[in-house]
Amino acid sequence: MVELLPNHVAGRWQAGTGAGTALVDPVLGTELARVDATGLDLAEAFAFAREQGGAALRTLGYRERAGLLAAIVKVLQAHRDSYYEIATANAGTVKNDSAVDIDGAIFTLGQYARWGESLGDARALRDGEAAKLGKEPLFQSQHLQVPTRGVALFINAFNFPSWGLWEKAAPALLSGVPVIVKPATATAWLTQRMVKDVVDAGVLPAGALSVICGSSAGLMDQLQPFDVVSFTGSAETAALIRSHPAVAARSVRANIEADSLNSALLMPDAAPGSEAFGLLVREVVREMTVKSGQKCTAIRRILVPAALYDAAAQAIGARLAGVTVGNPRSEGVRMGALVSRAQLETVREGIAALAAQAEVLHDGRHAPLVDADPAVAACIGPVLLGARDADAAQAVHDVEVFGPVATLLPYRDLEHALALAQRGQGSLVASLYGADDAALGRAACDLAASHGRVHVVTPEVAQAHTGHGNVMPMSLHGGPGRAGGGAELGGLRALDFYHRRAAVQAGNGVLSALGL
Ligand code: NAP
Repeated sequence: MVELLPNHVAGRWQAGTGAGTALVDPVLGTELARVDATGLDLAEAFAFAREQGGAALRTLGYRERAGLLAAIVKVLQAHRDSYYEIATANAGTVKNDSAVDIDGAIFTLGQYARWGESLGDARALRDGEAAKLGKEPLFQSQHLQVPTRGVALFINAFNFPSWGLWEKAAPALLSGVPVIVKPATATAWLTQRMVKDVVDAGVLPAGALSVICGSSAGLMDQLQPFDVVSFTGSAETAALIRSHPAVAARSVRANIEADSLNSALLMPDAAPGSEAFGLLVREVVREMTVKSGQKCTAIRRILVPAALYDAAAQAIGARLAGVTVGNPRSEGVRMGALVSRAQLETVREGIAALAAQAEVLHDGRHAPLVDADPAVAACIGPVLLGARDADAAQAVHDVEVFGPVATLLPYRDLEHALALAQRGQGSLVASLYGADDAALGRAACDLAASHGRVHVVTPEVAQAHTGHGNVMPMSLHGGPGRAGGGAELGGLRALDFYHRRAAVQAGNGVLSALGL
């Protein structure tokens, strides 16, 4: 009998009353645990978090709440090995890929703990300088930001059960806002276990952190005007969140991180064999294979000068041919599984949709698996497609295949390349590869309007750059348009979402008494 993972709401562990949904090992096909949220009193859960958790967090200043984050880091570090075991079993990831999720979360929490320290003991944040409202500076307007008096509901995607929780929870808790997380069902185990370890360690006030595993039914209905919801997932579900009455009628603030057709662009002056060419090839292969391409930031479109199309296809394909796929527990396996057989089917369908408008340049679909049964495991080798007419292949700019898949696209000149990048209708990240700083700077500014992040790789930063797809807490994560229009991370800017901004108009004595 596998364990039915309990939910933590209203300050206590509560099992769902239904049979639950099975969490499955995507390599072995075995059932690992079950999750269920049937029968939970959601009204009580949200009220408890809002009233008990929120009030307790708001009695603390930023520095003290930063201390809570540092305490969470210690708890997670102490249990780190068990998280790797869960990730291997439930997500089918090799150790390096699990690290992106687990150690990426711990790093982000630690970073916010350090930033929070710098805010001191204040209970509100000054937002800009005071501005005089008349001729004399006697009566002034001072904007300030205070923690919102609601809960932060996180509805998360399956690909980052750890980082997806903590990159959101760090700024929320630091802001003084309690968190209710609803992980994606397929990989809920790691999220649930981390919350359990933190709750059991007693480092947070009651109600500050809750977890609900299983169905999302009824969660959005609980949201009240001062609550916020942060969603990560598909564009289809995002549309449901946006049109929910809580958001549409009650003005609940919603942050949406959706899918994205990210691109990598080799600048026109790069020659085959140049350092920039090699850097692009290396990064493309890394992005296609890390977490089996199940990263919202992964490179999906590779833009190269038309004259380099064949050379790029050859170089990327040659590297992909060396990628071993299979059981992440086996020595030498570089790429593990997709999250489920259902996801494998979706990826196969996506490849077929792209292949209707593109040629297959490297086909890992039938590559032999290491220590895994192809009839059971959700494994697939990398697939590189190419469309010689990049303008005509509309599917390439439309269909996000959430797996180890990317498409090579030739361009005529830089203007054409930038236009093709924009065909993604707003993306999380674009990366540029070249050696001409001036041209790269101009291209970065051009792409900034339609991308949340522009990652520029030159020979000078070859060893220092943090990777196209790596989301660092210092930089904005989120993109306009199709990418959802969200804004996460970016240092202390992330706190804006969990605060309310107001202007206080008063004399200088009162403004000094605000304690900012
Ligand atoms: P999904 O199917 O949209 O699910 C996302 C979350 O929404 C899950 O927790 C899901 O719960 C929940 N959900 C489903 N229906 C819902 C509803 N009607 N109301 C409220 N919540 C609902 O997405 P996914 O397949 O997990 O994730 C893959 C997608 O996420 C990809 O497109 C990827 O690009 C995107 N993504 C984006 C980012 C980013 O930061 N921009 C990061 C990671 C992933 P259940 O699991 O229980 O169905």
